[in-house]
Amino acid sequence: MRLIVQKYGGTSVGNPERIRQVAERLLETQREGCDVVAVISAMAGVTDNLIKLARATSPQPSERELDVLLATGEHASIALVAMAVNALGGKAISLTGAEAGVLTDRVHTKAKIANINPKQIEELLSDGYIVVVAGFQGQTAEGAVTTLGRGGSDLTAIALAGALGADACQIFTDVEGVYTCDPRVVPGALKMEEIAYDELLEMAGAGSKVMQSRAVEFAKKFGVPFEVRSSFHRTAGTVAKEETANMEDVVIRGISVERQQAKITLAGVPDAPGTASRIFSAVSAANILVDMIVQNASDQHTTDISFTVHESDLPRAEELLAPVAAQIGATRLMAQSGVAKLSVVGIGMRSHSGVAARLFDCLGAGGINIQLISTSEIKIAVVIDEADVDRAAQLTHDGFGLTRFAQAPPVKG
Ligand code: ADP
Ligand code: ASP
Ligand code: MG
Repeated sequence: MRLIVQKYGGTSVGNPERIRQVAERLLETQREGCDVVAVISAMAGVTDNLIKLARATSPQPSERELDVLLATGEHASIALVAMAVNALGGKAISLTGAEAGVLTDRVHTKAKIANINPKQIEELLSDGYIVVVAGFQGQTAEGAVTTLGRGGSDLTAIALAGALGADACQIFTDVEGVYTCDPRVVPGALKMEEIAYDELLEMAGAGSKVMQSRAVEFAKKFGVPFEVRSSFHRTAGTVAKEETANMEDVVIRGISVERQQAKITLAGVPDAPGTASRIFSAVSAANILVDMIVQNASDQHTTDISFTVHESDLPRAEELLAPVAAQIGATRLMAQSGVAKLSVVGIGMRSHSGVAARLFDCLGAGGINIQLISTSEIKIAVVIDEADVDRAAQLTHDGFGLTRFAQAPPVKG
């Protein structure tokens, strides 16, 4: 018998009618002769509301308690999905992450999956159940509840598909697949038929939240192909898989944007061993994630170092860096919020030249100033003003010939 893991995101289970539609689809899949495991997210908006509630109650809630709270979002939705299947005459049972055998490390709010013991799921499947598993959560060896980071239901689905040796893993969401750019940013973006794990990994890491990047990383590491597709339409989605030979023929697969970034520059930093280490140790000690780092060529034995952080981390980063800047003898510490990152991604970059020049042309023609540039083997990223980012995405999308026809943007929610 074929085994299918289907993941449904928050919008897909956003109200009772949508939950009923999910239940129907699960039953339909079972009727086609498959064993079905459903991984369900919290209903749209629920996780955000729980986070707001926690912050309104306590200025700095403990991460352990946050996990206990956040896990309730998925608890509610699995019970509702199982009830909906049963109401339609099917046989379903809901399992929390712990019951499903998802064992994690002890890093609350961004735990890593250490192991999955799918024994209970397998027994329930052989008894004919549709098994409805809570996404985004697991438990430590001591039995404490953990969560897997925002968007973590994607990871639950991929990891379960791997552990169960599933024949297919389908990620149902509110768009029809992975597009050349977020279709809410570039309305003429095209749905891709396929994408290499590495490309989706770079896109997810650069702000395309259609898949959680840790989930894609897991899929790549353990070779779990999956399809991103619509829960509202029947059309085929996008298959993410190991790279194939012809994939390099496409110069740019997609464009990602990431808003709410901030840029920090230390100017006149003495060009001496150990200075960069002092700057970044101070920031990382506060668990602040640093993204693009650019150091200028040294002039008169001093240099400028710039990097980006999330806007919400800027006040803390400035506070930490002010004394460091003074100690190392930097002449200025400058901080700027309201910037965004735009990245072009594609494994075709390895074999095609002129990609950077074309990107800079597109932005230059639009009068958009580039503040920082960084590159990797399959990605070029620039920092620009946040106010320009939608226009920049459209210009770049057109400039790389990704827009073939105009289509209406999908309706959210
Ligand atoms: P879910 O709740 O189903 O997990 P998410 O909101 O996490 O859904 O992810 C789907 C959203 O990702 C889409 O609504 C879309 O706006 C956004 N998105 C960003 N980049 C892309 C892209 N390149 N292709 C498709 N969707 C994208
Ligand atoms: N409910 C969690 C979140 O909103 C996990 C998920 O939806 O994948 O981040
Ligand atoms: Mg998601």
